[in-house]
Amino acid sequence: MAALRRAKRSEHPAPPAGTGLAVELAGVRRQYGRGAGAVHALRGIDLALPRGSYTAVMGPSGSGKSTFLQCAAGLDRPTAGSVRLGGTEITGMSENRLTELRRSRLGFVFQAFNLLPSLTVEQNVLLPMRLAGQRPDRRRATEVLGQVGLGDKGARRPSELSGGQQQRVALARALVTRPDVVFADEPTGALDTTTAAEVLALLRSAVDTLGATVVMVTHDPVAAAHADRVLFLADGAIADTLPRTSPARIADRMRALTAPAAHAGVAA
Ligand code: ADP
Repeated sequence: MAALRRAKRSEHPAPPAGTGLAVELAGVRRQYGRGAGAVHALRGIDLALPRGSYTAVMGPSGSGKSTFLQCAAGLDRPTAGSVRLGGTEITGMSENRLTELRRSRLGFVFQAFNLLPSLTVEQNVLLPMRLAGQRPDRRRATEVLGQVGLGDKGARRPSELSGGQQQRVALARALVTRPDVVFADEPTGALDTTTAAEVLALLRSAVDTLGATVVMVTHDPVAAAHADRVLFLADGAIADTLPRTSPARIADRMRALTAPAAHAGVAA
C-alpha cells in the first residue's frame, strides 16, 4: 500500500477566486530579544507557493526552519513582513480568528503523530472538524481513512496501530477539512525507512491526486526528494532552492551549507 486511492478533483471546493497561491510570505523577519543580544531567526523571507505544490524546507540546525514553519502556519507572529494563507492576510489577525483559520484551513502532521489515545481513529480524524465547529462528517472520515489505506481501522485506538499506521491517521486528520495547506514537521522522523517511504508516498499522492499543498520541514534528503522544490535555509535566509531532484544531490547541497559553519565551529 503506497498510493492514495484516487479521488475525484470535483470533490474539492474551488479555491477562492483571485489567487492561485496557497502560501505567500513577504519580507518575513522574526527576531528574538533586542539590542546586542537579539537573535535574527528569520532575516527577510519572500516566498510564494502555488496550490497543489509540495515544498521541502531544509537547513542546518538553528537556520530558522522551525521559526519559518511557525510563522508560515500562523503559530508565531513575525516581527515584520506579511503572511497570506489561501489568499487571506493573517498578519495582524486576532488570536481567535487565527485559531479558527488554523483549525478550518490548515492541516498539521508532526513527528510524534500527536493522536489522542483515548479517542478512536475515526474520532481523531474528525477532531479538526469538531474543533472548527463543523458537523463531524463520518462519511468524510471514512473517505479520507480509505484514501490513506486505513478504511477498516476507524474503530481502533491509536495504540492498536503501528507507527506508520498512526502517522497515516495523522495524515487523514490533516486532510479531512480539505485544508489550504498541510504543514508537516519531520513527519518521518520517528519511522523506520520502509514505513517512512510509505508515508512519504502518501504525502506525494495527496498532492498529486487530491490537489493538496504540502510544506514539509525535514533533515532527511530522501524525504525532501519527494518534494517539487527544496528550499535551503541558512542563518535565517533562503540560501538556495532546488527543483525536484535526487537525495544524493540534496545531500550534497546540505553538506555545502553546513561545511562553512562546521569550520567556523572548529575555529571558534
Ligand atoms: P531550526 O529549526 O532550523 O533548528 P530555529 O527556527 O529553531 O532553527 O531557530 C533559529 C534561531 O532562532 C536559532 O538561533 C535559535 O537559537 C533561535 N531561537 C529559536 N527560538 C527561540 C526563542 N524562543 N528564543 C530565543 N531564540 C530562539
